[in-house]
Amino acid sequence: MINSKNEAVCIGCGERISLAGLKVGDCMDCSNCAGLTFRVEEKDGDLSLVEVHRVSCPLCEELIEVPSGSEPGETVACCGNDYFLTYEFGAFALVSDGKGKTV
Ligand SMILES: [Zn+2]
Ligand SMILES: [Zn+2]
Repeated sequence: MINSKNEAVCIGCGERISLAGLKVGDCMDCSNCAGLTFRVEEKDGDLSLVEVHRVSCPLCEELIEVPSGSEPGETVACCGNDYFLTYEFGAFALVSDGKGKTV
């Protein structure tokens, strides 16, 4: 996905993005893809881009990075509460776990 010119094809819009100055673990935004963030990762010796999903906490509205590989139904903790991860309309969201905790 990344060639020797340190460019990668955005998995969102298909445009080429320069990765100059970026290293594995860095995050970047594609200017063509509003709201999409990608992280540079190394895979089998090559660099590739993975999409970073973020959800906002229903309580404190902080943006939390969804761990890669997360699936709907998993719980994400923030500000002392657990929230369920849901996936709707192509985006993750957090909902209260409904266990009667103070939210
Ligand atoms: Zn893009
Ligand atoms: Zn929170």
